[in-house]
Amino acid sequence: MALDSESFDILLATVQRFIRERLIPAENDLEEHDEVAAELVEAMKELGLFGLTVPEEYGGIGLSVSQEVQVNFELGRTAPAFRSVFGTNIGIGSQGILMDGTPEQKASYLPRVASGELIMSFALTEPDAGSDAASLKTRAELVTGSDGDHYVLNGTKRYFTNAPRAGAFTLMARTGGPGAPGVSSFIVPADLPGIQLGKKDKKMGQRGTMTCDVILDNVRVPAANIIGGEPGQGFKTAMKVLDRGRLNISAVACGIAQRVLDESTRYARERKQFGKALGEFQLIQAMLADSQAELLAGWALVREVAERFDRKPAQRSDPDVSMRVSCAKLFCTEMAGRVADRAVQIHGGAGYINEYPVERFYRDVRLLRLYEGTTQIQQLIIGRDLVGRA
Ligand SMILES: Cc1cc2nc3c(=O)[nH]c(=O)nc-3n(C[C@H](O)[C@H](O)[C@H](O)COP(=O)(O)OP(=O)(O)OC[C@H]3O[C@@H](n4cnc5c(N)ncnc54)[C@H](O)[C@@H]3O)c2cc1C
Repeated sequence: MALDSESFDILLATVQRFIRERLIPAENDLEEHDEVAAELVEAMKELGLFGLTVPEEYGGIGLSVSQEVQVNFELGRTAPAFRSVFGTNIGIGSQGILMDGTPEQKASYLPRVASGELIMSFALTEPDAGSDAASLKTRAELVTGSDGDHYVLNGTKRYFTNAPRAGAFTLMARTGGPGAPGVSSFIVPADLPGIQLGKKDKKMGQRGTMTCDVILDNVRVPAANIIGGEPGQGFKTAMKVLDRGRLNISAVACGIAQRVLDESTRYARERKQFGKALGEFQLIQAMLADSQAELLAGWALVREVAERFDRKPAQRSDPDVSMRVSCAKLFCTEMAGRVADRAVQIHGGAGYINEYPVERFYRDVRLLRLYEGTTQIQQLIIGRDLVGRA
């Protein structure tokens, strides 16, 4: 699946213009109000951003992974909260249906996901199950009634991105015994009785994104809403979804690194000390150079892994690709943290002041090393793969 290259070039140029002309000028407003303006959300729908990765047959644009990472690099040049509005629709919220859903599930959900009519989000994490996601406790008990088979869900999901905006969740719950084989993925409409949202989390950065707890109290979900129709496959689905998600976070990390490097270069040219522009001092040039080299290395890695991703069958997971995805997430998110830190340093005191974008990105970028698998979890995946192969 891929968009033809001519159409893709037009799309990329349109997205670049939208970011430059509409999103970057709205960053201060976003930071102040902790909310993405409704007219920007409408503009995102018109551009087709909610359906970037949904195949054309379901009304989307149908980008390949190689194309998706390029769009995400561009989106990294502005506040991550803008991408977050549709990020779960093109990523972790809907990919489970796309990869493993039944034809009926795809036909029923994907067109609404692509248009932005339906926001979907992804619920794996729980209060006692973060990095150890396979230990999740949310229970799904099968009951047979006059209205057909249902599962009754009980539990709490945590740090659930876009839950307050979502019309439906891709939600992992335990239908069987302990560990990964006991987990199933459900499509859960957000308005079912028994679903309660906790209060919105106050976060270090990424203002304008929304996370909260979701409490499930005897929520009846039709058995037909198990993704793929077969219980016990949900953890595998979740891991496949996260593989693609992690690569796209790596691309966003590179885009953020590019933005803060651009901000730093501009500042180094303009700001004068000791009678010279900062950029003339070799110690400043060294920081810029380290950032440029690391950014190019990270971006080359993302592009290479994306091509491998596109060469493998979409439904199948490939341990070698997963290991490389983890390398990209580990390197690029840590790299973006270092680049943002140097950007603050190059700005001096101004880097600590809220009106300069690098202050905001310094906080925003911190999350990338935590969600969709922490740096340590990526190290474990890579290490296990290497030792296992020996
Ligand atoms: C803003 C935000 C948005 C999020 N969005 C979503 C979402 O939409 N859906 C969702 O399901 N989840 C979401 N998450 C959850 C996120 O994926 C988890 O927070 C993350 O996976 C880490 O889990 P944890 O917070 O429980 O940390 P823990 O697992 O408790 O880890 C704490 C520390 O211990 C380390 N650690 C854990 N196990 C090991 C080990 N075996 N070896 C070495 N070190 C280890 C970790 O790397 C970390 O440094 C979000 C989180 C945040 C903060």
